[in-house]
Amino acid sequence: MVVAAQAKRHAAQVVRRLRKAYPDAECALKFSTPLELLIATILSAQCTDVRVNMVTPALFRSYPNAAAFAAAPRADLETAIQSTGFFRSKAKNIQECCRLLVEKHAGVVPQRLEDLVQLPGVGRKTANVVLGTAFGQASGVVVDTHVTRISRRLGLTEQSDAVKIEADLMKVLPRKEWIGFSHRLIHHGRRICIARKPKCGECTLADICPRIGVA
Ligand code: SF4
Repeated sequence: MVVAAQAKRHAAQVVRRLRKAYPDAECALKFSTPLELLIATILSAQCTDVRVNMVTPALFRSYPNAAAFAAAPRADLETAIQSTGFFRSKAKNIQECCRLLVEKHAGVVPQRLEDLVQLPGVGRKTANVVLGTAFGQASGVVVDTHVTRISRRLGLTEQSDAVKIEADLMKVLPRKEWIGFSHRLIHHGRRICIARKPKCGECTLADICPRIGVA
């Protein structure tokens, strides 16, 4: 109990500092509908958000809804997303995902985690991104490579599996922080707590971070 209370106090301090450092942090992917965010998130696997944002404006003009993505010639879609990498599997996932959206959800992105994770190419992380950012629903904590690395360095988890890390974070963070916490940690990971050489000297968390695993 004492350990759990300490962990929550530590997490609360981290939340407060990050809120102050990044008051306006939000999802870096550009989108105007839940479907666009879903597609952009699928494209962002193994790719930077900057690169995805270069590709999506023309992509969303060419394919304005799920039916249009589903009906697109595969080769055309592959060409349109080629620069995001892994374009063959991404094109396949996008088309199968959109086909299922049309068949089972009238072309509309569902607002339930259980439905979202049934879609091809959509795991818990993508589902949490869509629910949190497009619908404002705190279904969980988005765990990407930045959240994984920094949560471990901060001692918020000892796990390396994303689902287990998410479970640890959900235990110590109040639900109302779940969405913003991920956005802020991702910002922090890009600017300060970078993978190879974290800038601990410039870090707002320096005095409360145990720097686990940092050389
Ligand atoms: S003190 Fe260093 S390791 Fe800890 S969060 Fe800041 S940059 Fe990362």
